[in-house]
Amino acid sequence: MDSDNPKRQEDHRQLDPNAILSSGANKLSNLQINFLKLPENLNPLVPLASNLYWVWNRRIRRIFEEIDLAAWDGLGHNPVLLLQRISDSRYKELGSNQEFVTRLSRAYDIQREYLRRKEDTWFRRTFGILERNELVAYFSAEFGLTECLRTYSGGLGILSGDHLKSASDLAIPLVGIGIFYKRGYFSQSLTPDGWQLESYPENNPSELPMEPALYPNSKEPLVVSVPIEDRQVRVRAWKVAVGRATLLLLDTNLPGLNSKEDCEITAELYGGDIHTRIKQEIILGFGGAKIIRALGLQPTVYHLNEGHAAFAILERLREIVEEDKPGTSFKESIELSKSYNLFTTHTPVAAGIDVFDKSLIERYLGWYAKKLGISLDDLLDLGREKNGSSGFNMVIFAIRLSNSANAVSKLHRRVASKLWQTVVKEHDPERELGSVTNGIHSLSWISDSFADLYDQFLGPEWDEDTSDPKVWSRIAEIPDDLVWQTHIKQKSKLVEYVRTNFSLDGYQGGALSQVLDPNALTIGFARRFATYKRASLILSEREKLLALLMSKDRPVQFIFSGKAHPRDHEGKKVIQEIVNFTKSADSAGRVVFLPDYDISIARHLVQGVDLWLNNPQRPLEASGTSGMKAVPNGVLNFSVLDGWWDEAHSPEYGWAINPLDFHEDPIKQAKADAEALYATLESEIIPEYYSRNPQGIPISWVQKMKGSISLLTPRFTTRRMVKEYAEEFYFKNVKRLADSLNKSELGSDVLESASNDKWDK
Ligand SMILES: *Cc1c(COP(=O)(O)O)cnc(C)c1O
Repeated sequence: MDSDNPKRQEDHRQLDPNAILSSGANKLSNLQINFLKLPENLNPLVPLASNLYWVWNRRIRRIFEEIDLAAWDGLGHNPVLLLQRISDSRYKELGSNQEFVTRLSRAYDIQREYLRRKEDTWFRRTFGILERNELVAYFSAEFGLTECLRTYSGGLGILSGDHLKSASDLAIPLVGIGIFYKRGYFSQSLTPDGWQLESYPENNPSELPMEPALYPNSKEPLVVSVPIEDRQVRVRAWKVAVGRATLLLLDTNLPGLNSKEDCEITAELYGGDIHTRIKQEIILGFGGAKIIRALGLQPTVYHLNEGHAAFAILERLREIVEEDKPGTSFKESIELSKSYNLFTTHTPVAAGIDVFDKSLIERYLGWYAKKLGISLDDLLDLGREKNGSSGFNMVIFAIRLSNSANAVSKLHRRVASKLWQTVVKEHDPERELGSVTNGIHSLSWISDSFADLYDQFLGPEWDEDTSDPKVWSRIAEIPDDLVWQTHIKQKSKLVEYVRTNFSLDGYQGGALSQVLDPNALTIGFARRFATYKRASLILSEREKLLALLMSKDRPVQFIFSGKAHPRDHEGKKVIQEIVNFTKSADSAGRVVFLPDYDISIARHLVQGVDLWLNNPQRPLEASGTSGMKAVPNGVLNFSVLDGWWDEAHSPEYGWAINPLDFHEDPIKQAKADAEALYATLESEIIPEYYSRNPQGIPISWVQKMKGSISLLTPRFTTRRMVKEYAEEFYFKNVKRLADSLNKSELGSDVLESASNDKWDK
């Protein structure tokens, strides 16, 4: 086991994390793409496919679309698979198309320029040159980056993915640590009766934009051992290049080295039972910390995104006691490690918080207590509310062992502060939870149509800093009719997408080509079907709903999508209720449910509906992010004042559901919220949507669209969010080097060691 841990080097300057992490980048090809097929002048396709930067750079993405749009969409936006599947003749054709070759080489220049930029980045401008090689290790059980990498379930994963992308844009040195789930989260289909069925298609690493992490200066795949019960489980890692950032995905599927059962530990996201859960979290925490070390990296910050990752702290304590500072007591190691740790809590809902009882901790981590010479109770006490009283709570543990902890919106901070006040204040009554409101990586979610419009009106560099309010204030200068036409274009695309991609079995409203009316007010609702999100609230008074749907001159229609956790029977019943309603003759194609919600469906919806509906049971939605994705696409929000909307809402650019009427009783609350929902739709939203000028443009609606885009986009972007993490947490106390020091000595270029040369012609 000790061979996993090369001795720590005291001189932090010796190790440049970027150089270590990027070595081997762009070599993906060697393993996965058949070179022989590629005409030489198409070689840049390989580095473009090897880095997910294309996800948020449409000039690069267009190259893949141009190769074969149908295949690109059909293969789920997977550039590796695309390049593997393209025929020799198509390659020949592209290779002799001079215009394509020129565009390709321009796209490659764009990627290289982005990856190499060093001086002119937010990180360097803000922090200058630092004394050490700072590195943030960002742990999360899920990462949602793009649809072909199915390592996410919902908002937490999308947030982690967007966090990585913005860290890359800001040039913050950050490595993500997650899990490669062989079968991902489940794939959803529906029985004729509307019941959710789960299937688990396998992800094949050799068809994905990732490559094995290797030992430093070696071609050997990196493998570390993590003790579980009385055995060693072997863990490897896959590297995903996310712009300048790197994501390491841990994997126990090593058939020669692990038992069949252990190969399955990382098989499914949130799958299996509580035993699987604790084993996965041990792999994520212990395995993640070990892999980082085996790579020779020394993070200066451990950002634990939700409690799943918190076992990383235990491994850190072990490192301190056994390797870094032998002679340190376990208690002292806790004090030493705290200042490295930042914990972010994401939900006040009990189902989202892991609590492991004593027998589980004893079984899976008994070895740890023995090794560190502490009692089982000492270990348990780290995660108990009051000594001896309850199970090991991952959130309590993480708050207790981190100097900093934060919630994800202002309202959530108030809720979480109450919920966790005992542990937050236990050593310092002055201690407060922080709050950093979530955001979205805007460029990943803005439609091409709106991006093209922004190119025209916001200045050539609008996409350089999406958190700059000055840039977005220029929205005011865009003519109303252009804003509206752009939206209508996206809305038509959405209708087309639904009609061509979903069979909508059993839908009774006529031909599928008739489903949805491109002119009707279209409302989107898509998210995980956790019951607190109350997806079926709109169905609570059928007569009122039917009147809205069937209105002759001012019809309304709904598009739903979302998965319930496989064990969430109540959530599945909500899906069934909605699906059955879509099939009733009454709804006549005005309500549809799109099965198998994922990033692709999310993108189509937030880019194409008119209004985004969000009606959770307040205050259980800590933040919510899908409504933020609607914003830069000119889609307006209609939401309960929960999560982000509580701090974002203004009648200037959106609507609140029942803003003043709060009840303790959830049934009363739901009734009041439903009534307010119908009333606001009837009296405000529908009339405003259908009130048109002679050119057919809803002038006051468009004013709201412009207000929403300009005022909310710069606030609810991960660019602003990650900057806050960087300034208030990650680098708050770092020392800068005196300017007189020779800059060139330090921080080698991001890709300098990455033998990119092959493509540098
Ligand atoms: C954004 C997103 C979510 C999060 O939605 P909330 O509104 O925050 O619940 C979940 N799933 C997918 C696929 C998303 O894109």
